[in-house]
Amino acid sequence: MQQLETQVVVIGGGATGTAVLRDLAMRGVAAVLFERGNLSEGTTGNFHGLLHSGGRYVVSDRRTAEECHAENQILRRIAPQAIEETGGLFVALDDADEEYLPRFLEGCAAVGIPTTVLSGAEARREEPHLSPAVRQAVVVPDGSIDGWDLCTGSVAAAKEYGARVFLYTPVTELIRAGERVVGVRAVSQADGEEYQVRAEYVVNAAGPWAGQIAALGGVPLSLALDKGTMVVLDGRPVKRVINRCRYPADGDIIVPVGTAIVLGTTSVPVTDPDNFVVEEWEIDKVLDECVQMVPLIDEMGLQRVFAAVRPLYKPPDEPEVDVVSRVFYVLDHEELDGVGGFITITGGKLTTARLMAERTADAVCAKLGVDAPCRTHEEPLPLGA
Ligand SMILES: Cc1cc2nc3c(=O)[nH]c(=O)nc-3n(C[C@H](O)[C@H](O)[C@H](O)COP(=O)(O)OP(=O)(O)OC[C@H]3O[C@@H](n4cnc5c(N)ncnc54)[C@H](O)[C@@H]3O)c2cc1C
Repeated sequence: MQQLETQVVVIGGGATGTAVLRDLAMRGVAAVLFERGNLSEGTTGNFHGLLHSGGRYVVSDRRTAEECHAENQILRRIAPQAIEETGGLFVALDDADEEYLPRFLEGCAAVGIPTTVLSGAEARREEPHLSPAVRQAVVVPDGSIDGWDLCTGSVAAAKEYGARVFLYTPVTELIRAGERVVGVRAVSQADGEEYQVRAEYVVNAAGPWAGQIAALGGVPLSLALDKGTMVVLDGRPVKRVINRCRYPADGDIIVPVGTAIVLGTTSVPVTDPDNFVVEEWEIDKVLDECVQMVPLIDEMGLQRVFAAVRPLYKPPDEPEVDVVSRVFYVLDHEELDGVGGFITITGGKLTTARLMAERTADAVCAKLGVDAPCRTHEEPLPLGA
C-alpha cells in the first residue's frame, strides 16, 4: 500500500473536480485528484455541449442566468480551445412563444446579456433551415463547448502548479477519525495498487455519485438524480445553437457540435447514476420538439443517443418545488452533519464549473488558513494534458 500525504484530496475528474484541483494548486495548496475512470467520463463527457449565455435561465432561474453570463465571458478568455463561438438564437414559433419573448428580453437586459431581435425572414437568411413557422428570433452569445478539452486543460494547469492526478483509481473509503474525515483510500484499476492518503480536507466533486462518496464515510447526502437524454444527428444544418423561446422545457435545444447536431434534452428521475436506459419515448419527444424548429431534422440520419444524470440538490430548509433549481451548492458537512474535513460541491452547470470551483476553494482555503486569492479567471488554460 502506498501512503501519501497532501493538504486536499479532490474526488472526481469531471469539469468541477478538475477546476477545483486547478484553483487549489494555483493558490499554492498541495492537492491530489482521484478519478475512478478517465477524465470527463461522467456527466462532463456526456452533456449537451452548450456554453450557456444565460438566456435559457433569465426567466426561470435568475441566479443561474447571471452566473452563466459571467462565466461564459471568462471561459471565452481562458479556454478558447474548448469553445466554438457559434452564437445562439431563441426562436418564437407560436403565440405562447411570442408572449414569452418580452419577459425573455427583459430578463436578458436585467442580467446584461446582449440581444438582437430578428424577424422570421431575417433569421432564415442567417439560418436557411429554420422553420417557415419561426416568427421572430433573438440573437444571444450561446456557444458550443467541449468537456474533454476543458478537463484536460484544467489538469494540465493544475499539474504545472504541482498537483497530482490518479486516473482509473476509485476512492473506496473516506477515512474517519471521530467526527472528522482525515483522508481517503483508493485502489488503482490498472495495477491493483492501494493508496492511503492523509489529507487536511477532502472535496467531493463526484457529480451524481456524490451521495455514494459521502456514504463511504458515513455522511448522509441526499441528491435528486435526474436523467437527460440527447440525440445526435449526422450533419450540421444550423450554424448556431437553436433554443425554443419559451420557459425551459424538454427537448427544446439544438447544439451544433463538430459535424453533427445534438438535440436535447429530457428530464427523468432516476435512482442510480450507473444504471439507467434511454427510453424510446425520450428520443421521439426530443425529435418531435426539435423538428418544429428545423424541419430538415425529419430527414437526417440518427448517429447515436446518449444520456447523463444531473445531481440536483434541494436544501432541507427550502420548500418542496416541482423543478429543482440548477444553482450549485458548496456543502460544508461540518455545519450540516457535524463531520469536519469534508466538503461537497454539487448542482450547477458545466458553464459555471470554474465559479463552483472558486467558491469551493474559497471555503477550503478558509478552513486551512490559506490566504490566497482565486486567479483562475485570469490565467488561460494550457492546451491539454
Ligand atoms: C443531460 C445533461 C445535459 C447537460 N447539458 C449541459 C449543457 O449543455 N451546458 C452546461 O453548461 N451544463 C450542462 N449540463 C450540466 C453539466 O454537464 C454538469 O454540471 C457537469 O458536467 C458536472 O460536472 P461534474 O464534474 O460536477 O460531474 P461529473 O462530470 O459527473 O464528474 C464526476 C466524476 O466523479 C467520478 N467518480 C464517481 N465515483 C468515483 C469514485 N468512487 N472515485 C473517484 N471518482 C469517482 C466519475 O467517474 C466522474 O468522472 C448537463 C447535464 C446533464 C445531465
